[in-house]
Amino acid sequence: MSTSLKPFNTFGIQADASRIIVAETVQQLTNAWSETVAANKPVLILGEGSNVLFLEDYSGTVIINRILGIEITEDADAWHLHVGAGENWHQLVEYTLQKDMPGLENLALIPGCAGSSPIQNIGAYGVELKSVCHYVDCVDLLTGEMHRLDNSQCRFGYRDSIFKHEYQNHYVITAVGLRLPKLWQPVLTYGDLTRLDVANVTPKDVFNAVCHMRTTKLPDPRINGNAGSFFKNPVVAADQAAELLSTFATIPHYPQPDGSVKLAAGWLIDQCQLKGYNVGGAAVHKQQALVLINEMDASSRDVVDLAHHVRQCVGEKFNVWLEPEVRFIAANGEVSAVETIA
Ligand SMILES: Cc1cc2nc3c(=O)[nH]c(=O)nc-3n(C[C@H](O)[C@H](O)[C@H](O)COP(=O)(O)OP(=O)(O)OC[C@H]3O[C@@H](n4cnc5c(N)ncnc54)[C@H](O)[C@@H]3O)c2cc1C
Repeated sequence: MSTSLKPFNTFGIQADASRIIVAETVQQLTNAWSETVAANKPVLILGEGSNVLFLEDYSGTVIINRILGIEITEDADAWHLHVGAGENWHQLVEYTLQKDMPGLENLALIPGCAGSSPIQNIGAYGVELKSVCHYVDCVDLLTGEMHRLDNSQCRFGYRDSIFKHEYQNHYVITAVGLRLPKLWQPVLTYGDLTRLDVANVTPKDVFNAVCHMRTTKLPDPRINGNAGSFFKNPVVAADQAAELLSTFATIPHYPQPDGSVKLAAGWLIDQCQLKGYNVGGAAVHKQQALVLINEMDASSRDVVDLAHHVRQCVGEKFNVWLEPEVRFIAANGEVSAVETIA
């Protein structure tokens, strides 16, 4: 098998791995992990590579998780889905709608695997995975033990979960359990969804509206490589938000339950006139400033230098220092994305 990672990352960055293995069962995956660790090489588990930036060649084995299978059960109140981690997320959304099991429509067209969805608690248009996630199955690769974490144990937060902390190393997610309530409640709080008629809207209407917004506003990774939102929306303390508002009256701001305030990273970048700005082959997307794209054979250096420039401009203008949402992978594994672009 080729060792190029280019087909396995949506940024379309060229990097090689020593070895790439596609695992279709938990056994294959754990075997590949054990063999590589025994050879003292690093291991990276990947879904569809839609949230990673390869900084250089990877010195170990990349295991592509393709554990498939969807099992459905139901009780009086809800449908319960047990989904193999390697299932494609968007196809799962389509499948549930075809089976008249709504609840995932706001999360349509998010690239990646179902098994990756809990890691950063994927979210879009007012819905996050945490609202439908019942449990996450993972294997501790050091002991071979299976763990089932219920929703609260996953410690979901904004683009965050336990899988970015205690359960990040030597754990692999093998399946996700979803609970879709039979009493469907549309979430129509964002974008074009606010124009839908809540009394008559169907899940398919929401799905279509979400797909339309995404395909018109976000670059297609097959044409311009990208990893979606490059930066997280920054969350600042209330007094910093008040100070910013006194200088920039129109700054979009979203008060959070804990008193902090979330700002829109795309707006901050746009205010620095950076749409279309490029470094080498990497550019800030012209329609959506939050997305950095591989416009023309970008190297990871181009992306890192561009991200540094964006962070610097926003930091100097607003004293808000952006942090990447994208995970940075160096030769031996993940490295701090913030430190890399600082
Ligand atoms: C065009 C575009 C739009 C996007 N829009 C959104 C959006 O609206 N909302 C949103 O939240 N995200 C969005 N994203 C980001 C991305 O879709 C999600 O983060 C997605 O969940 C990543 O899935 P993946 O399978 O590609 O993960 P990968 O990129 O393959 O992996 C991400 C990280 O998880 C680890 N990992 C992967 N699989 C496993 C596993 N089974 N067990 C343990 N660790 C694992 C990897 O090592 C890596 O560190 C977008 C991306 C793109 C390209």
